[in-house]
Amino acid sequence: MLTNHDAFARAAAVIPGGVSSPVRAYGSVGGDPRFLESARGPYVVDVEGREYVDLVASWGPAILGHAHPEVVDAVQRAAARGLSFGAPTVAEVELAEEIVRRVPVVERLRLVSTGTEATMTAVRLARGITHRPLVVKFAGCYHGHSDGLLAAAGSGVATAGLPGSAGVTEATAGETLVLPYNDLDAVQAAFSAHGHRIAAVITEAQPANMGVVPSLPDFNGELRRITAAHGALLIWDEVLTGFRVGPSGWWGIEAASPAGLPGWAWAPDLVTFGKVVGGGLPVAAVGGPAAVMEHLAPLGPVYQAGTLSGNPVAVAAGLTTLRLADDAVYRRLDEVADTLRAEVHAALDRAGVPHRVQHAGNLFSVFWGERAAEDGVLTYTQAKAQDTASYTRFFHAMLDAGVALPPSAFEAWFVTAAHDDTAVTRILDALPAAADAAAR
Ligand code: PLP
Repeated sequence: MLTNHDAFARAAAVIPGGVSSPVRAYGSVGGDPRFLESARGPYVVDVEGREYVDLVASWGPAILGHAHPEVVDAVQRAAARGLSFGAPTVAEVELAEEIVRRVPVVERLRLVSTGTEATMTAVRLARGITHRPLVVKFAGCYHGHSDGLLAAAGSGVATAGLPGSAGVTEATAGETLVLPYNDLDAVQAAFSAHGHRIAAVITEAQPANMGVVPSLPDFNGELRRITAAHGALLIWDEVLTGFRVGPSGWWGIEAASPAGLPGWAWAPDLVTFGKVVGGGLPVAAVGGPAAVMEHLAPLGPVYQAGTLSGNPVAVAAGLTTLRLADDAVYRRLDEVADTLRAEVHAALDRAGVPHRVQHAGNLFSVFWGERAAEDGVLTYTQAKAQDTASYTRFFHAMLDAGVALPPSAFEAWFVTAAHDDTAVTRILDALPAAADAAAR
């Protein structure tokens, strides 16, 4: 039998770090990443045949659980009709209609293959429409790996970002202003200094890539007010939140929030989607009002394209997933997330582990250490100050007990609607020993 270690050694000989995406590496928790062979419902199985209750859910897409029979069936039927046409299909229109129906600010959308492409296109559109060079992003928000959006090393108000990755030129990084999240004074100051040169502010609708850091109540609304006042576009990145936190993503939650400005006065100009819209296959999208989206080629001068965009097999997975994601699915996602949040908190408290559980809808994560416990986490600087060593011990104890968590303290925990009571009980049973391990 191939052991997990053998699989990793083989991988490392031909793939940098042995992984096709760095978040899969166990660099921050140590050990070999689990090589998976199959997944069904709330479970994943590794090459050694070990089953884990999964709280990664493919980093978000699997809201129905893994390999939902109706999604698999739709994919198989689509594949039998042809893998890729390079021509429009009715199914992609249906997927677009499903998204437009759920998120009213989206009147038109363009399908792409990855969240990275979606945000990259949104930024290009904003620059093409405004004829301005600069983009504001927030430290700790992840928008994929396009050069300009990798600038995450925020150093304060209106300071040009440093490259967050080697290979990003200073010129490119200098066109991204990186500001602290939840800091409206910083946004105001950046616009006072550079407002006439800022094309867009891009923000995660709710940040979940530095752990989960919810926005302060008036943050998204004020971003809308400030960008509108300066003629800049507001881009909401819902690649992670979209159709996971609710049937209309964060849009629906903000619309229902008493803090939200009335009449969708908080609404962004562009929204990006990914993950759930592909149901586990590569589909993502960028959308917005017709007047904005019609700047895209072939109608307008902003170019964007893709050989596999709107791929029929991938669209079948996304469309079937969205159609199956009814109220009962979202109720179950919320229920499982609520239970886990409460029980993780209780177990860590009982073991005397200082921590703070933060959430945005059904997305949640744990911040470790005294500082997070006392003050909570509002910014990337605070997120980075957590005690990641506690998480390493907790993570491995959970893994040993058959529960797969994200291999980093800076990631959200992803539940699925397939997490039934048996799966949830297995997680809860693993908590006391893992909390004790974290306390050591
Ligand atoms: N935006 C957000 C908020 C994300 O969480 C991610 C991926 O995790 C992306 C964009 C990039 O998406 P992809 O990995 O599909 O390129």
